[in-house]
Amino acid sequence: MEFDLIELIRRHTAQPRDDMRLGIGDDAALLAVPAGQELAVAIDTLVEGVHFPRGTEAADIGWKALAVNLSDLAAMGASPAWALLALTLPEADSAFVEGFIEGFAKLAQPHRLALVGGDTTRGPLCISVAVHGFVPPGRALTRAGARIGDAVLVTGTLGDAAAGLQALQQPARVDDQRAGLREFLIERLNRPTPRLAAGTALRGQASACIDISDGLLADLAHICTASGVGAEIEAALLPRSSALLHLHDETTALHFALSGGDDYELCFTVPANRLAEVQADLGRLGCGVTKIGRIVEGHGVRVRGSDGAWLTTDRSGWEHFA
Ligand code: ADP
Ligand code: MG
Repeated sequence: MEFDLIELIRRHTAQPRDDMRLGIGDDAALLAVPAGQELAVAIDTLVEGVHFPRGTEAADIGWKALAVNLSDLAAMGASPAWALLALTLPEADSAFVEGFIEGFAKLAQPHRLALVGGDTTRGPLCISVAVHGFVPPGRALTRAGARIGDAVLVTGTLGDAAAGLQALQQPARVDDQRAGLREFLIERLNRPTPRLAAGTALRGQASACIDISDGLLADLAHICTASGVGAEIEAALLPRSSALLHLHDETTALHFALSGGDDYELCFTVPANRLAEVQADLGRLGCGVTKIGRIVEGHGVRVRGSDGAWLTTDRSGWEHFA
C-alpha cells in the first residue's frame, strides 16, 4: 500500500522495546523472545457487517480489533508484547486509517504493545490482528484444568455488549431520558476492556480460563468439554450492570447475560481453597469478580433460575424455564 499510510501507522504505534530488533519497514520483523518465557500467539479477524455493524467509527474498530486479541492473551495469563496488522480496505482512505490507528494505539500504548508489521490490501473492509505475548513456561491458563468442586467465576458484568448491539439497531428517540445508559452499553460493545491484569493475576491460581466472546453458556461449555466436567451456574448470581437492568426486563437481561457475545470478560475456575485469595487479588486490581456457580461431574452447563428450578439450556443458549 501507499507508503504514507504505512508511515502513518508506524508513527502512531512506535513503541521502544528491547526485544524488538526490527519493526515496520523491512520484509519481516525481527523479534527476540526473552529468556525464560513462552510465546503465546493468537489471531482474530473482524469483518464489517459480521463482527461490527457497518457505520462503526474507525477508532472503535481499531480499538476492538486489538481488544479481542488482547482478550485471548488475557485468557491465557499472557502479557502482550507484539502485534501484526492485516488491513483490507475498500480504498486507500487515510481518514479511516488515521481514526483506526488512533483507536488501536490508545489501547496498545498502556500495554507497551509494539505493532511490528502487517499487510495492507484492497477489498471489502476486514481487519486481522495477530498478537504475541509472554508467559512463564508451564504457567499459561488453559481451558482444560477445571476439576469437580471448583468454583466458577467471571470478571465484570455480562450481557452489556449484546444490549449495546440491540441499542444500535433500535435508534433512540431524541428525548430519550435513558440515552446515558444506552451510551454505556454501546461503549461496552465498541470498546471492550481486555482483562490483562486479571489474567496474569490468575496464573497459578485458576484451574481453567476462557474469555467470553460468544456468550457465557457457549464459552463455559468449552471449559467443560476441554476439562471433561460439567458446570452448574445460578441465574441469580450473574453480575449485570445497572444500565442493562434499567433498560431491559429480567427475562431479556438474563438472556443477554447467558448468551450475549462480545463482552470479553474472563470466565475461570478456581479450587475452593483458593477462592477467597483470588477474589481479594482481583479486587485489589479494581477488577469486579463474581462467583456464579461450580464445576460438577458430567458434561455441559446447567443454569438454575432464581426460583430454584433448572432452566433448559443447550450449547448455544437457553430456551425456557423448565
Ligand atoms: P512486502 O511487500 O515486502 O510484504 P509491504 O509493502 O507489504 O512489504 O510492507 C512494507 C512494510 O510495512 C513491512 O515491514 C510491513 O510489515 C509493513 N506494513 C504493511 N502494512 C502494514 C500494516 N497494515 N500495519 C503495520 N505494518 C504494515
Ligand atoms: Mg518485501
